Amino acid sequence: MRSPAWTRDELLLICSRVVTNDWRQLRAYQPGTHELADLLRSLPLHEGEPQRLPEFRSATSVSRKSADLLTSRPGYTGPATRGGRLTRMIAVAFTEREDEMMAAAHALESGISSGDLLRIPPQPGETDEDGATATEGRLLARWAIYRERNPALRRRKVSDALRRGVPVQCEVCDFHFGDAYGPLGQDYIEVHHVLPLHVSGPRETRLEDLAFVCANCHRMCHRSHGGMAWRTPSAVRKEMERSRRAPRPEGG
Ligand SMILES: [Zn+2]
Ligand SMILES: [Zn+2]
Repeated sequence: MRSPAWTRDELLLICSRVVTNDWRQLRAYQPGTHELADLLRSLPLHEGEPQRLPEFRSATSVSRKSADLLTSRPGYTGPATRGGRLTRMIAVAFTEREDEMMAAAHALESGISSGDLLRIPPQPGETDEDGATATEGRLLARWAIYRERNPALRRRKVSDALRRGVPVQCEVCDFHFGDAYGPLGQDYIEVHHVLPLHVSGPRETRLEDLAFVCANCHRMCHRSHGGMAWRTPSAVRKEMERSRRAPRPEGG
């Protein structure tokens, strides 16, 4: 039996350490590498047998993976190691969007160390229908979805809107559940957090961080596409307007 393939979440954590190590290999004898290996073994990503293998996320395997990441970096001219496509993607993301990727790694680490992240069960929609996850990984997606499915928070947002006379309707397409479904849809709406977790940080959600969206537009806010897996309602609205202007193909 072999150790399971590295996930984005794991590569995110390793690559953030490689960056703080000035893009040098993490050595197996360094205490930090052992701490990182312990952290990786604690993640709720791989269940069952492989976790009991002695080499599963050992300091040596973490050290080897750190070498794959740095030799996959654009512009690296030394001898290459075998990294694979995902490893290259993460190395490129850290090179081109270092601040954003470092922030994602920090949010992930703080969610793990506080225990918040480990208490959250897998959420529907944390991976795309084809099984793909965002660059920022599966666990941050899980946490973000859980954060906006908090029913008490949604109720507070709806009663706040009703009190202020703000219509409870989708901020992307103006869909109003009450108008479309009558009493069945009265005051129904989903809420979307306008900031990804690594931008907002794991702080308490404020009502002004939340936007009203219908179920369809909400899916589009979270869909992995064009290297992004988080959009604001106004970004999705722009996509809709763009597609309305574009001529439809004949017979399509
Ligand atoms: Zn909508
Ligand atoms: Zn959302």
